[in-house]
Amino acid sequence: MEKENLIDNGEYLSPPTMFLDIDGTLVHFPHSPEEYKSIANGTEKMKLLPGVREKLWEWETKGCKIILTTGRREMFRFETERALKKAGIGYDQLVMSCGCGHRYIINDRKPGNDKDDTAYAINVDRDEGFTNLEI
Ligand SMILES: [Mg+2]
Repeated sequence: MEKENLIDNGEYLSPPTMFLDIDGTLVHFPHSPEEYKSIANGTEKMKLLPGVREKLWEWETKGCKIILTTGRREMFRFETERALKKAGIGYDQLVMSCGCGHRYIINDRKPGNDKDDTAYAINVDRDEGFTNLEI
């Protein structure tokens, strides 16, 4: 474990859980009716955005949990799971039908470390990828 994973009282933090959006965050956002149709009929070829594969690998090797969150409808789960697999995107859970509005994560601070936040939010520009992402 790296020193950065130590908390004030010397205990180790568990690897973080990453909640990641799919379209526009991990892969190219569908910009046309044809691209949207390919999601629905299972012919989609996801295009990973710059830096995404490297970050996914980094988080994988650190033991992070990967939870994908998406506004894609639940009825497209099979097609989405297949496209993610073909694109080489591994994950622990896929949460669908999230809606397109804002997303919030609420988490409690650890007792004895009341000053350390346990939930963070990072906004990235659509289709920019993770090239400048520092976590
Ligand atoms: Mg999105």
